[in-house]
Amino acid sequence: MERATADPHFLLLPWQGAISHIIPMTDIGRLLASHGAAVTIITTPANALLVQSRVEDLAAALHRPHGHGAAGTITVTAIPFPAAEAGLPEGSERLDLLRSPADVPRFFHANRLFGEAVARYFRGEALPPRRRPSCVVAGMCHAWALGLARELRAPCYIFHGFGAFALLCVEYLYKHRPHEAVSSADELFSIPALPAFDCRVSRAQLPQHFAPSTSMGGGTLQEIREFDVAVDGVVVNSFEELEHGSCELLAAATGKTVVAVGPVSLCHQHPMTMTDDGGGGDRRVLEWLDTKETKSVVYVSFGSAGCMPPAQVVQLGMALASCAWPVVWVLKGADSMPDDVKEWLRESLDDKQCLLVRGWAPQVAILAHRAVGGFLTHCGWGSTLEAIAAGMPMATWPLFAEQFINERLVVDLLGVGVSVGVTKPTENILTASKLGADVEAEVGMEQVAKALERLMDQGSQGEHRRRKAQELKAKATGALQDGGSSYMNLEKLIVQSSVSRPNTCGV
Ligand code: UDP
Repeated sequence: MERATADPHFLLLPWQGAISHIIPMTDIGRLLASHGAAVTIITTPANALLVQSRVEDLAAALHRPHGHGAAGTITVTAIPFPAAEAGLPEGSERLDLLRSPADVPRFFHANRLFGEAVARYFRGEALPPRRRPSCVVAGMCHAWALGLARELRAPCYIFHGFGAFALLCVEYLYKHRPHEAVSSADELFSIPALPAFDCRVSRAQLPQHFAPSTSMGGGTLQEIREFDVAVDGVVVNSFEELEHGSCELLAAATGKTVVAVGPVSLCHQHPMTMTDDGGGGDRRVLEWLDTKETKSVVYVSFGSAGCMPPAQVVQLGMALASCAWPVVWVLKGADSMPDDVKEWLRESLDDKQCLLVRGWAPQVAILAHRAVGGFLTHCGWGSTLEAIAAGMPMATWPLFAEQFINERLVVDLLGVGVSVGVTKPTENILTASKLGADVEAEVGMEQVAKALERLMDQGSQGEHRRRKAQELKAKATGALQDGGSSYMNLEKLIVQSSVSRPNTCGV
């Protein structure tokens, strides 16, 4: 028999492999707390510092809760990551902190041990009853969270980090396997997941779920899929108005509750970053932008970990150094480039034309800055949605994962992007790194230059894209306002989670 509990309490378990999963999960926690729920976020010590920095200003905001009227709470708990037990150096708490792709299977092993440690924490006798979660939301690699949720007799939701359209395409691919009917990895085929949209991609462009081999190993991918199939629902960082019916179709295809609660980056009153180390890096970029004309700057970034082969970095750099617009270029892995590329970067980029950011950039604040007029992006879902929330047109350069599917959505369905024309994925730590000096550039500087010209076009096509981007921005903002689609979905999630079954497991 079900009974209502007075205090909805969400246990959030962000997938700690990638900062880009920790960021939106933390923001989901903020949104739930601002709707009056109690939230506990459990992660590893290094990542807990990041989460903490992202919720620090929440107390003030919680004096004005939405919805229920009650004030929510948010607690961040760190549980040690058993890296050493899995044969990894201490501190290997995320994929970007690993030494090489060979460490990836050890990382996933450590993650399973971490799951056991989290379960032990909840079995601990010292835990007061009010700390018992009524709903678990877990990152997609935390397959162990299902057993924990069942033990707690709480519903278990999965958070993939993908948008609903990409999730719908993945579901279609698992069920109908159109990629197995093509004769080569480069042949284009359709994923007819949405009735009125022909999404065409090649097998090589599919997420790693469908890759012949990855450094994650088939066992881990299988485990993730089984987790996905077994959970009670899916939480998506998106909003229904953006998804052209994908949420409903995904719910129908999977038989699960699908709740779109985004764009979650809008939960911050002041756009902020995740890792500003206080060294003033954030201020440097924003002050530089202050000196530029409105909508004159191109912002270039490939996500939290996106890297390119050195030859590709140089082709991109030549286009950015010589284009007609000032550029902010965020380049990860700059310090591990060959010496000649480092020298090229030092000598060829003039700070006035192209500001190179070697570390972490305050992306949401950059996208919100009046001086920025276009975003060259790798189409990671976090970046894509942040651009949409900011009303920013995009030039799309997908690297891996579901990014080629996101590109099709942005360019062909939403009409707010232009494609650079990349055909092949860039290898990365999960697909075993191939970023060496011997790898040729797929995209030449002229191709980049043409894409930037279309992105910043002042003619009717550019104007049309900018207008569409502004329309989506208005819908994104509306979704999280009182009565909006994401606002109502958060309320529903909270109400559903405050109905729990009698606790018979003794936890
Ligand atoms: N990000 C940032 N500064 C950076 C790089 C990334 O703030 O220098 C943030 C960005 O705003 C987004 C996330 O990191 O929230 C990247 O997520 P996305 O899904 O776009 O890409 P991924 O990192 O998973 O490839």
